[in-house]
Amino acid sequence: MKVLKGKSIAPGLATGRAFVCKARPAVAVPRYRLKPSEVEEEYRRFQRAVESAAEDLRAVYSRVHADLGQPEAEIFDAHLALLFDKQFAIQVRTRIETDLVNIEHAVATEIDSLARVLQAANDGYLSERAADIRDVGERVLAHLVREPQVFLAGLEPQTVLVVEELLPSDTLKLDREHVVAIITERGGPTGHAAILARSMGIPAITAVEGATGLIAPGTRVLVDGEQAEVTLLPTRQQRRRFDARLNRYQHATEEAVDAEQLVCATSDGQEISLQANIGRPEEAREVARHNLDGVGLFRTEFLFLDDPRPPDLDRQLQCYQDTCHILGERPLVIRTLDLGGDKHPAFLRERTEANPNMGLRGLRFSLEAARELFETQLRAIAQSAAHCDVRVMFPMVLAGDDFQQAAAIVREISASGLAGGKVIPVGAMIETPSALFTIDDILSEADFLSLGTNDLTQFMLAADRNATNVMADYSTLHPAVLRAIHQVVKAAAHHGKPLSVCGEAAGDPAIASLLVGLGIRSLSMSPGRAARVRFQLRHRSLASLNELAWDALKCRSVQAVRELISSCLR
Ligand code: PEP
Ligand code: MG
Repeated sequence: MKVLKGKSIAPGLATGRAFVCKARPAVAVPRYRLKPSEVEEEYRRFQRAVESAAEDLRAVYSRVHADLGQPEAEIFDAHLALLFDKQFAIQVRTRIETDLVNIEHAVATEIDSLARVLQAANDGYLSERAADIRDVGERVLAHLVREPQVFLAGLEPQTVLVVEELLPSDTLKLDREHVVAIITERGGPTGHAAILARSMGIPAITAVEGATGLIAPGTRVLVDGEQAEVTLLPTRQQRRRFDARLNRYQHATEEAVDAEQLVCATSDGQEISLQANIGRPEEAREVARHNLDGVGLFRTEFLFLDDPRPPDLDRQLQCYQDTCHILGERPLVIRTLDLGGDKHPAFLRERTEANPNMGLRGLRFSLEAARELFETQLRAIAQSAAHCDVRVMFPMVLAGDDFQQAAAIVREISASGLAGGKVIPVGAMIETPSALFTIDDILSEADFLSLGTNDLTQFMLAADRNATNVMADYSTLHPAVLRAIHQVVKAAAHHGKPLSVCGEAAGDPAIASLLVGLGIRSLSMSPGRAARVRFQLRHRSLASLNELAWDALKCRSVQAVRELISSCLR
């Protein structure tokens, strides 16, 4: 028996036999020289292959749209845009003209060099886009070499797929009846393959170092997408225990989904507001589907990451109005652009920083480096607020001072009448240690707060949220983080201001229970996670959660908090 640790990218439990694929079989790319007179025809072959690849992608788009929904289908819309990228075509043409090599070789080399540049960038978002580039490149190459694509076809039932990396198109090819879990060495939680795995309901764990070497083909494995653990060759007793857990998990999931239309309240009647974290207007549809109260976090930077130019007012206004339209009367908290750090849009690509997570980012970036863009965004938000319940929230607030500067701009814009005479509520994300120590100053200015536990955890524990080598140290259950949350709860109550949590922790049923025990009354999460959170809270009394929280605050280690949670919430 051996246990491998990784990072969970799609929740759930599964057991099966490993199908190990060390490297994705590359399309066999021929290489030969062209005569100058052959260049034109060679380029036409490229154009025909691009057209055929585009036809595939349109078909994939419709299939995914019908099967999984609009946000997932958009991944393939983005692939279409990459396919028709003018710069890509120019580069490919230059290669065949100047090097006089065949088109397959030119395309493969160009894709490889683009993907390497992205992969090498010290930026989680960009590295994950490298997988999209390779995916599109392979589609074009498959048409050029006319090779049938059989990778991942015909997998046996109860397969646990173990691969170095999965591309979005690979994920779609998976037979959901047969593939019960995915284990990868590379690929982060915001990668498109991860998004698709989550939507398809396949438990997945990434960053499992050396998985394709350590797991022998055919090995029986237990995949725990909740604890991000893979158990190889389990003993009979471990299997029995895991199977029992799996049964309970499946049963609870079914029950949780059935109970989604019920009110979210503890068994002794304390109502808890559940809201959605979204990154695109269409995702707002999930709010009604999962019976949520509104959007607690609209991460606006994801809308514009691929834009070559900063988004103008009209484009932003359209996005916000579309979101409001879907939400109706439900509130929408729009977070201003949280750029910098690992979120570098195309229009900022040339910027480099030694330590981007602590560089020009969040509100600092907006106030110091992109004031015009910030004001444009606030004007678009104000206009959308004229007819809807829109609130604005600033990321990475450091203290009362930066918050006040930003809030003053909102006030000025509102006073100009842009928001139809409305006063727009202005909130702060609490996700830096600095904000913790200046919480009273922030609270005296802010209308509401939201705890960004993803960043708060990384900065308090000095553990990069995306780094695999410090993964074990990165936990919101660390006593220091829990005590910090508790301080913020007390301060918000003292000032009588609403407080929610919008980091990943809010979507974990066990941690959400602890947060409610600590005094949190509003949780914002990926909509797909809300059913299990609601279900868990409905089966606990507030008194028992308060007790759990008090005991957790006294713990001295993450391990002790985990043990406490599992004994209390069993
Ligand atoms: C957070 O830091 O917890 C948060 C919600 O913001 P993001 O994950 O977008 O940084
Ligand atoms: Mg954050």
